[in-house]
Amino acid sequence: MDKNVIAVDIGGTNLRFGVVKKTGQIIHKIVRPTEADAGRDAVIENIINGIDEILALSKIKKSSILAISLATPGFIDIDKGIITFSPNLPGWRNVNFGKIIKNNLNIPVTIENDANAAAFGEKWLGAGKNSRNLICITMGTGIGGGIILDNKIWHGERGMAGEIGHITVNPDGPLCNCGNYGCLEAYSSGTGIVNRIIDAMKKGKKTSLLSIIKNGINEITPEKVFFAAKKGDSLSLELVEDAGKYLGIAISDFANLLNIKTIILYGGLVSSFGLFSKRMKEEIIKRTIPSFSKEVRVLKAGLKQDAGIIGAAGVVFQKKGELRF
Ligand SMILES: [Zn+2]
Repeated sequence: MDKNVIAVDIGGTNLRFGVVKKTGQIIHKIVRPTEADAGRDAVIENIINGIDEILALSKIKKSSILAISLATPGFIDIDKGIITFSPNLPGWRNVNFGKIIKNNLNIPVTIENDANAAAFGEKWLGAGKNSRNLICITMGTGIGGGIILDNKIWHGERGMAGEIGHITVNPDGPLCNCGNYGCLEAYSSGTGIVNRIIDAMKKGKKTSLLSIIKNGINEITPEKVFFAAKKGDSLSLELVEDAGKYLGIAISDFANLLNIKTIILYGGLVSSFGLFSKRMKEEIIKRTIPSFSKEVRVLKAGLKQDAGIIGAAGVVFQKKGELRF
């Protein structure tokens, strides 16, 4: 009998659990709160409880589970199953996560970066189904990325490949959360867009955004900036177009470096794609090697929120030789 994988996508807000078949079909799925602020041990307990719950709900025996595959944010040592650091999970430093979960459940555990898992999910069954090579850019609060080369996740020397959010797109640009200046994340992420508009408002720039926020700048969200841009607010529109411009600059770098033509955008900001795509495309055409620039295509993700679960499971099936492209 074919074995299934239990995949867990660990987000800052929610834990998504899925029992996934080797065809990629999710046969059971539950979503539970992460409670990241309650600390590391509480999150681990929530993960273990969630796995127990989905095992009970799906009436599947532990012996029929090939592995548990954890898609987790932050930097991880894949070989050792250690989370070295995760900015979105307070208190997570050098946690031997794979071992803790394995000891509690007695099922083999593998661990993968969440953006890599989403990229692999899109490659397997999403918008990148027919592409051997692709880059998946996760656009949400921050910016992440996963690189698929020759149908496999490219991990780099120490498992940290794909930190697309922290490539420099403007050496004189704004301060990023990582401490550097002018990173892509400082322009094209939700946090970047909000920080930039707050900065501009403090410098006295006019914006109609003030009419939709009643209790101060803390109420500003990327969605509100996109909304104001759509309604014609020139400052909001300028910053949203900047997000597209710098994204386009980054994409042209990837296309020139790797001769990669499939770029997939994933995450919350993609619903506003129409507002920044024109500027993005202009930069791609302008900066990519001319004979290749028209081949570069930027697609919206196909799997939505399930990409992480499907991809995390797919990584296990591929490792075991049950998934071949
Ligand atoms: Zn940065």
